[in-house]
Amino acid sequence: MSKRKPVEETESKASRVEVGAHVDASCGKCKSVTSHIVIAKIDATPTRVECRVCAAVHAYRAPRRVVKTAPTPRAESRTPEAIWQDAMKRARGAAVPYSTRENYAVGARLTHASFGDGVVTRLSSPTVCEVVFETGAVKLLMRELRGT
Ligand SMILES: [Zn+2]
Repeated sequence: MSKRKPVEETESKASRVEVGAHVDASCGKCKSVTSHIVIAKIDATPTRVECRVCAAVHAYRAPRRVVKTAPTPRAESRTPEAIWQDAMKRARGAAVPYSTRENYAVGARLTHASFGDGVVTRLSSPTVCEVVFETGAVKLLMRELRGT
């Protein structure tokens, strides 16, 4: 038996943490996972770390695998004009005064007493439709569910 099995290689890198080593940790100040210098440790676990970005010294927090919540592909970065123009691309026909007794389809244009001109962009449920208004506002409005 000249060579032993390389069992020890399965040890994770985390078990080799040294004071002064660099580790990734979440920094409360940076509000993100940044590189930190280990200041103190217990066994293989860093206990105090110094953020290399903002120099804050704080307790070690293991970097969470930040599953970035996909930025909502919503209005945020879009101007009301862009939202409205986008909606208008799908618009069909002439605007009709909004009525809960109307069975709207996507692309239907309507005018609402309070919100103004709108376009139906989505049917949220059999009785609710999503309407984008010229102000960029998105409202859920009732619509009539008609049996065919
Ligand atoms: Zn920091």
